[in-house]
Amino acid sequence: MAKHAVVIAGGGPTGMMLAAELALAKVDVAIVERRPNHVLVGSRAGGFHSRTIEVLDQRGVADRFLAEGQVAQAAMIGATVLDMSDFPTRHPYSLGIWQNQIERIMAAWIAELLVRIYYGCEVTGFAPDDAGVKVELSDGESLRAQYLVGCDGGRSVIRKSAGIEFPGWDPTKSNLIAEVEVTEEPPRGIRHDATGIHGLHRLEDGRTVRVIVTEQQLGPSSEPTLHDLSAALITVYGTDFGIHSPTWIARFTDMTRQAATYRAGRVLLAGDSAHVHYPAGGQGLSLGVQDAVNLGWKLAQVVKGTSPDSLLDTYQDERHPVAARALQHTMAQSALQRPDDRIKALVDMVSELASMDEPRKRLAGIISGLDIHYDLGEGHPLLGRRMPDLDLVTDDGPLRVFALLHEAKPVLLNFGEPGGVDITPWADRVQMIDAEYVGLWELPVLGEVSAPTAVLIRPDGYVAWLGDGKDTGLRDALITWFGAP
Ligand SMILES: Cc1cc2nc3c(=O)[nH]c(=O)nc-3n(C[C@H](O)[C@H](O)[C@H](O)COP(=O)(O)OP(=O)(O)OC[C@H]3O[C@@H](n4cnc5c(N)ncnc54)[C@H](O)[C@@H]3O)c2cc1C
Repeated sequence: MAKHAVVIAGGGPTGMMLAAELALAKVDVAIVERRPNHVLVGSRAGGFHSRTIEVLDQRGVADRFLAEGQVAQAAMIGATVLDMSDFPTRHPYSLGIWQNQIERIMAAWIAELLVRIYYGCEVTGFAPDDAGVKVELSDGESLRAQYLVGCDGGRSVIRKSAGIEFPGWDPTKSNLIAEVEVTEEPPRGIRHDATGIHGLHRLEDGRTVRVIVTEQQLGPSSEPTLHDLSAALITVYGTDFGIHSPTWIARFTDMTRQAATYRAGRVLLAGDSAHVHYPAGGQGLSLGVQDAVNLGWKLAQVVKGTSPDSLLDTYQDERHPVAARALQHTMAQSALQRPDDRIKALVDMVSELASMDEPRKRLAGIISGLDIHYDLGEGHPLLGRRMPDLDLVTDDGPLRVFALLHEAKPVLLNFGEPGGVDITPWADRVQMIDAEYVGLWELPVLGEVSAPTAVLIRPDGYVAWLGDGKDTGLRDALITWFGAP
């Protein structure tokens, strides 16, 4: 039986991001992926938002995604675009890029990081014991791990086998999504009618047409067929445009659910296995990638024995509220898409509000993920928020903060007297950088905040402690987040 420190069930965006985080921390990690390779049939998600671009920038790989996608102001509420170009970030936009491109780029990255992947194999169950988990595979073999993470999507076998409740809201509407060829030229743009939203869009290859059509009635949970798609199109457009040669047909709904707990002992959940929702607002993939970045460094420290197992509980404490809020937001978005005249009146009202500065910033902060605030207690507004990517001056020359996070290691930035903060007992774990910064300290949504004299940044880019000329609380923060010296 092969052994790994961590086994990840599912190599979608969440599983791959988690594997990258663990590999950067030099943890022996393996992915078990049902597909025979990393080719994703169908384009699926259409991109991600600002904080996810930042998170990839923190690891030095954002350019790979930016080079293949298109930046745009794509955060929306109802029909209103929430322009975030005035947010203080290097990436004040969303990135339009198909999920099959995202997965191809991620797969190439984790291959560079030498992550082991068992392709063409499913996790069918697991058996935990005091020392670890036996992970059962569909080929009759098994793997041994200290921890198992279910990144196996909305129908997660790991979640079900762990007996984790998945409470929420049943679906009320369904959409068919497909990639097909057509014999008649379809109309451009989105159509709203008494059923919902529909649209056909020719992809870059000039041949394939991506179709989204709302079904008249909630569809069954079985796999949809070309006939189902044809019937749905005829109902809406009076023709099916001669659709043929489908490469992908799927159904998605507005079912909204969240795992009651993200952890059952040595088994954890991340991404769609922990939360599912209507794709309005395009937040699912971003949530999963950011779950992975929150969990990765914590799991690495626990596996290496530098932090106690209880550090993993902070993953649920921090990430469960973020997804709960996104679920609320997508339910509101989904309600705003209903075709009723009264809802139309509500959309107009929301649009008017969203065009005002303060509501625009607040809503854009939610969708972009730039306003995420982990509850790390009272203090400076930056505590528990993302560290801005400041242009620093150091003894080694100019340096961006995000460049210091490429290796997924914590950093203490000292803006006071050089050598004025002493973290010698943690020198093997925490980078200590004396730096100067002369600009404003500005946060998205909140605006300008006072300049601290020192900042302790976690590997996920969130601020764990700030100094105001003294080092009060620094030792406690170092122990809490990075273990006893
Ligand atoms: C139409 C549509 C549009 C969307 N648009 C957006 C968007 O614009 N932006 C956005 O952020 N999100 C969007 N989403 C959501 C996004 O696609 C998902 O949130 C995202 O794929 C979740 O990633 P994941 O890795 O958690 O799960 P998944 O992508 O579902 O990956 C799970 C992986 O696990 C594998 N697997 C499953 N079971 C097992 C098993 N038992 N053993 C081994 N392997 C297994 C699967 O093969 C798969 O590779 C959209 C979704 C849909 C349907």
